[in-house]
Amino acid sequence: MSGCETLNDARGWPVSETVADQVRRLREQLSDWSYRYYVLDEPAVPDAEYDRAFRALQQLEQQHPELISADSPTQRVGDRPLDGFSEVVHEVPMLSLDNAFSDDELIAFDRRVRERLGQEEPIVYVAEPKLDGLAVSLLYQQGELVRAATRGDGATGEDITANIRTLRSVPLRLRGKVPTLLEVRGEVIMPHDGFEALNARQRDAGQKLFANPRNAAAGSLRQLDSRITAQRPLEFYAYSIARIAGEALPASHMDGLEHLRDLGLRVNALVRRCEGVEALLVFYREVMEARQALGYDIDGVVYKVDDLARQQQLGFVSRAPRWAIAHKFPAQEELTTLRDVEWQVGRTGALTPVARLEPVFVGGVTVSNATLHNADEIERLGLHIGDTVVVLRAGDVIPKVSAVLPERRPADARPIIIPSACPVCGSEVFRAEGEAVTRCTGGLICAAQQKEAVRHFASRRAMDIEGLGERLVEVLVDEKLIGNVADLYHLKTEQVASLERMGEKSAANLIEAIEHSKQIALPRFLFALGIREVGEATALALANHFGSLQAIMAADEAAFLQVADVGPVVASHLTHFFAEPHNQQVIAGLLDAGVSPSESEPQKPETLPLHGQTWVLTGTLEQLTRDEAKAALQQLGAKVAGSVSAKTSMVIAGEAAGSKLDKAQSLGIAIEDEAFLLKVLTEHGVHPGSG
Ligand code: NAD
Repeated sequence: MSGCETLNDARGWPVSETVADQVRRLREQLSDWSYRYYVLDEPAVPDAEYDRAFRALQQLEQQHPELISADSPTQRVGDRPLDGFSEVVHEVPMLSLDNAFSDDELIAFDRRVRERLGQEEPIVYVAEPKLDGLAVSLLYQQGELVRAATRGDGATGEDITANIRTLRSVPLRLRGKVPTLLEVRGEVIMPHDGFEALNARQRDAGQKLFANPRNAAAGSLRQLDSRITAQRPLEFYAYSIARIAGEALPASHMDGLEHLRDLGLRVNALVRRCEGVEALLVFYREVMEARQALGYDIDGVVYKVDDLARQQQLGFVSRAPRWAIAHKFPAQEELTTLRDVEWQVGRTGALTPVARLEPVFVGGVTVSNATLHNADEIERLGLHIGDTVVVLRAGDVIPKVSAVLPERRPADARPIIIPSACPVCGSEVFRAEGEAVTRCTGGLICAAQQKEAVRHFASRRAMDIEGLGERLVEVLVDEKLIGNVADLYHLKTEQVASLERMGEKSAANLIEAIEHSKQIALPRFLFALGIREVGEATALALANHFGSLQAIMAADEAAFLQVADVGPVVASHLTHFFAEPHNQQVIAGLLDAGVSPSESEPQKPETLPLHGQTWVLTGTLEQLTRDEAKAALQQLGAKVAGSVSAKTSMVIAGEAAGSKLDKAQSLGIAIEDEAFLLKVLTEHGVHPGSG
């Protein structure tokens, strides 16, 4: 066949493109991706995408052998070493592995092996997890580690001896009777917990995050400063002997691994001898099951013909041995397009963006939705509707969009806009300063939040409606007997009695408890409304400050800021809550139904008992949390400061109080304990932490 035949292409490449053009284009694409993956440790696309292009090129070259060239990615391994390291020439080349992506491909591999060996009976293989890290070669002379190198392009690697010496799982000296020379091959990986911790440290330091543990391992091992490598959680597993001198090469691969173990090298515990292809398939499924619990990434399993004489008989093709194959697991990262973003409202009013995706097979299932967490995450990803995105799904973890390919952004891509109204109830949405989450302010009316709103309203420390537990709230809402908290006061005994598992008696009790809740202290009522960040202490401070519900509903942000316990965030939550017409309606409904929060004279700040005093809390309190103690003191008009100065009126010292206590002593400031604090609070009618 000539090189000018044209093929259809799913990627949208011109159909008129010649095979030679396609081959050239695939090669350019693959070498660019390889460079970014191997040399820069910054993959541009998921492996599955790389593998597809690689296979496409392999197929074209198979159909058109005249187009094969020595520099084709199908003929070579890895990429060139990084400048900055000295080069190591591998005496035995470090090859790659051929891949099987299905059972059938594996069965075909086994058939080829038996045909080449002229063997009918089942082959004995060694099955191993395919560790997803990077290959290294360790050279021991007289039992001492003298050199370590990366695979590089297979012929030449980088000298990383200083870095490898920092790994605890690499012995600097072998144990027992050592060969005069030993070259070991193995994989350096980064376990999941170490990877998470490293990325958390990178984030805190404002530095670049690693895309995955493999990249993190590669980046960490290829540091020019080995002190950095020493801080990275890397581990080494040996998987083969490349050279040995001073003793005979073991007769089988498995014997070799056992010998490595005896010499003090770590060999993976899952490695097993298997006879025949059926046993390999069983191993594959077992390891796939165990995969999530391993604590490190593997991307498949590797099978190797066990008998070394047979391995030699089979030999190599350009970039991989004929006696081994990698059986890949389904990809955990795939590419797809973002069709749209929908905003879901959680039971506390948080708006969560959910990605609607072009369905894609990833991590063993078809995924069409993925969480985007919040608006900050959308911004971090730089996401637009229409974008090509990387979807990650590992094990049972919820699928997520982990990256965007901006270079594939179509011209009609649209930015993602946070809705200005709640998609469920139409109330205004609000994002407090410094918070990542946008929330619906219609807490009392929003169908997404109604169960939570009613449950909180009825709870012991709020309206204290006995008998109205979580389960009953569910049923009342599901049966549409109530839609919001005001509807509670219109419930009839017969309606409640007709519900499953409710008798006349308990229904009557519930109605009575609801009736009873109408006479309510203003602080409890305010707390019951479930306004964001308004806990019991704040509710009490508001009630004391304003005296009545009316006065609170008429207040503006500036007025809220005058309240002892209220800062800018709480003030803005309060303002948004009371400004929302839906909430106003429900409150009006409550009052119409006869709910009457108590009223009292507003207390001027000057009249508060601790007005003008500054208190400092130090050490651990037993009865109260710091926040509770602070809020309670603020209610009484005190300022609560973080450090001791001449202006401090009183220091409350808990267990293990430190330097603040010393300072107070040196300044001659009054020091008391938690019991004293509790006494002061009780005297003034403040009971933090209780209803
Ligand atoms: P490979 O990773 O598929 O297989 C060979 C490697 O497997 C060896 O070098 C060794 O490091 C490793 N290995 C792990 N466990 C082993 C064991 N028990 N025995 C022997 N070897 C073991 O091959 P490769 O040539 O390193 O790279 C190809 C892979 O890299 C593909 O999965 C490809 O998707 C990915 N890649 C991705 C990009 C990208 O842009 N995303 C670019 C280039 C390559």
